[in-house]
Amino acid sequence: MDARPLNELTITEVAKKLRAKECTVQDVWDACYSAAHEKNPELNAYLEIFEADADAIAKAQARIDEEGERAPLLCGIPLGIKDNILIKGNIASAASKILGNYKAAYDATAIEKLKEQGALFLGRTNMDEFGMGASTEHSAYDPVKNPLDTSRVPGGSSGGSTAVVAANIAYASLGSDTGGSCRQPAAYCNVVGFKPTYGRVSRYGLIALGSSLDQIGEMGKTVTDVELLYSAIKGNDKHDATTLPDGAETVSVPKKMKIGVPRDLLEGVDADVLERFNTTLAMLEKEGHTLVDVTLPTSKYALPVYYIVLPAEISTNLARFDGMRYGLAERTDTLLGDYLESRTKGFGAESKRRILIGTYVLSSGYIDAYYRKAERAREVIRKEYRDAFAVADVIATPTSPSVPFKFGERSDPVSMYLEDIFTVTANLTGQPAISVPMGMVEREGKELPTGIQFTAPHKGEARLFAIGKAVTGEAL
Ligand code: GLN
Repeated sequence: MDARPLNELTITEVAKKLRAKECTVQDVWDACYSAAHEKNPELNAYLEIFEADADAIAKAQARIDEEGERAPLLCGIPLGIKDNILIKGNIASAASKILGNYKAAYDATAIEKLKEQGALFLGRTNMDEFGMGASTEHSAYDPVKNPLDTSRVPGGSSGGSTAVVAANIAYASLGSDTGGSCRQPAAYCNVVGFKPTYGRVSRYGLIALGSSLDQIGEMGKTVTDVELLYSAIKGNDKHDATTLPDGAETVSVPKKMKIGVPRDLLEGVDADVLERFNTTLAMLEKEGHTLVDVTLPTSKYALPVYYIVLPAEISTNLARFDGMRYGLAERTDTLLGDYLESRTKGFGAESKRRILIGTYVLSSGYIDAYYRKAERAREVIRKEYRDAFAVADVIATPTSPSVPFKFGERSDPVSMYLEDIFTVTANLTGQPAISVPMGMVEREGKELPTGIQFTAPHKGEARLFAIGKAVTGEAL
């Protein structure tokens, strides 16, 4: 008999119990809900824990009773939802003061699909404001603490979404990934984090940060659970013209994979993190996968390219928050005064910094020198990846060069931006990428988590789930 409390099980495990009538949907909800109330005052991972939706719980139970094995595995499963994904009637603030009271007028497509499956929503998870950051320290509503060591950050920007999974106060969660926000916090919280191919999951109802980079991503305790959540929300959507057509999978999944390792890029990785990385690769080699050297020379410019392209898109996307149509509305005696007051009070320092950078790189005198040049470099990076995938099935790097850091430790913006060194390329190229736990390293007498990242060619999600399961030892 499994003695673990219900909230500590995986989706696959609890779904089995529900079907065997060893527990009810109400029991599952109650276990998560009470654990969430117990742990959240310390963690601050949820900005809001929702009250039970009796109707949704009853419907999920009835469906499991009627359909048994045919009922979707997500039916009756409580999930955490990042605060930038719209759930009709609930606040979606993107952890910003400017949207503090904004109530969603419609469901995001991903939410609509989860509702169709009978999934339950436990709360909205904390994040860096609008998704800008790698620690959740840029939330307007205080940072999230890492459940593995509360003196350290959980990573970001989806730090709330990964912390709720790590603390067993959601079975899985949705986040958004513009430059690594589902993968880096997953590595820091010892869970699995995934970014699909650009266009796989509809962005309709996701508060936009960088529209050419954003994807809704999934976090969970296992690769299997993440795959389940991804499969439930993917697909073409008439509300998002950038979604890919549904249809045949074009990328094969070799049983034994050629894993590309860009050794030149690994300079600067902490020695113990690199050691975990090499051990993990050696383990995969032993299982019959092969390692191949790949070079991605322009990838060393991925970070500066990203920090031009993204702020440019931020400065345009965030222009809509003017105090007229949504959220915070400050009134003065002039229209310009209304804009200035609303935006000055509504946005935090990091948002203002990126709006300034973005406006600068798009300005008529500088657009060629910065934005257009960055877009050309982005094209070169894409080409180098296409070439690398001619010899490798997946490409591996550590997810982050380091381990969860202490609050306040990355106080200058550039040191925070360096957190994203391995993750931003997949957003620039649009390729899918996954972070899977690769073991603990010791710092100051504490065991801290590390993650390995795999990137695949466009539409190569299945490869990532397969190699991820090879690392965790899950059945295919
Ligand atoms: N840390 C990155 C940034 O600050 C990633 C953000 C994201 O993926 N939302 O831009």
